[in-house]
Amino acid sequence: MSQTQIPVAKPVLDEQEVEAVRRVILSGWVTQGPEVAAFEKEFAEFVGTDHACAVSNCTTALHLALKVVGVGAGDEVVTVSHSFIATANAIRYCGGVPVFIDIERDGFNIDSELIEVAITPRTKAILCVHQLGMPCDLRRIVEIGQRHAIPVIEDAACASGSEILWDGQWEKIGKPHGDIACFSFHPRKVVTTGDGGMLTTANPEYDRKFRLWRQHGMSVTDAVRHGSKQVIYENYPELGYNYRMTDMQAAVGREQLKRLPALVARRRQLAALYAKHLGSIPAMSLPVEPVWARSNWQSYCVRLPPEWDQRDTMQALLDKGISTRRGVMNIHLEDAYTDTRSHRVVGNLQESVAAQERTVILPLFAQMTDNDVSRIVDALRDCAPICNLAAAQVG
Ligand SMILES: *Cc1c(COP(=O)(O)O)cnc(C)c1O
Repeated sequence: MSQTQIPVAKPVLDEQEVEAVRRVILSGWVTQGPEVAAFEKEFAEFVGTDHACAVSNCTTALHLALKVVGVGAGDEVVTVSHSFIATANAIRYCGGVPVFIDIERDGFNIDSELIEVAITPRTKAILCVHQLGMPCDLRRIVEIGQRHAIPVIEDAACASGSEILWDGQWEKIGKPHGDIACFSFHPRKVVTTGDGGMLTTANPEYDRKFRLWRQHGMSVTDAVRHGSKQVIYENYPELGYNYRMTDMQAAVGREQLKRLPALVARRRQLAALYAKHLGSIPAMSLPVEPVWARSNWQSYCVRLPPEWDQRDTMQALLDKGISTRRGVMNIHLEDAYTDTRSHRVVGNLQESVAAQERTVILPLFAQMTDNDVSRIVDALRDCAPICNLAAAQVG
């Protein structure tokens, strides 16, 4: 029996998104304009904040966030190596130095115990990541930031729709609980605009800067100039960038935002189902959700039993039509970071390295059926002896 291929992820895009883009194209206004403004307003309401500024992707969002809190040449930013490379690259765009600390032993998020050791007089920000959609320990991180008067920026690239328990209330990631949160709408995330990003903040001055910088530092927006009955000459008070989101992307984003609660609900069901079935595989270590967190389960990442080979496991699953990915990368091990002046490492990052070597991301997307989960878990259980055999042969 030939079974269908199961990809590791798959965006939910349908006629509603097509219709939204069609409307924008036929309107004749295709770049940053009324759709971007509406998407921003709706996203701000969704996360429960006053200001949301749409940009071209999360990497540019991170760049602007770091710049607005004053990260410049030689300044340090405490963050993790165990993240997508964009997290640290954005610090380097500002001329700053990423200071890498380790992650927690049983999760994939920053170990907040290690932050204070890494702080120096040069520290200008803490950049924490809600890795794979799982909220990091914001309560402690924000407290540390406040104690040292260092701003906290949240890399919430994966965390649209995730929640954290805050003063007894469930709140959306992005409120924000730190000073600024940065989101991604890349197709590998829970909702997508093709590419796209969002900055949320409670600080109106930060928001004003984001809007200036994302459009070349230009004093008036295209939309304002276009709509004006009076001639307006723009000026450029500051160095800016072209980090705009287009109205076509924003129109897709608005449809995706409508889907987000249902997508997260289904992903949470699937994650619970994985946990139930995978519990029967001895020594397989499953991701845990702290009592104060509700993940959107952007990815479901397991730690393999010690004797299982990572590559063999992934290949055995692929042979059965099931795509997986290695766990999160470690930035300090990449060639772009071999120059030791490019970053600083605090401690040995052993949990970060172990997590990359011992983990596999299993398929998880809203269109998956309960049966798909069973099939994946069965395949994983079946491949245990294969992996052991391969390890024995090598040994
Ligand atoms: C995807 C991702 C980014 C980059 O997002 P883009 O929108 O592709 O720029 C940054 N940080 C983390 C943790 C990510 O997962």
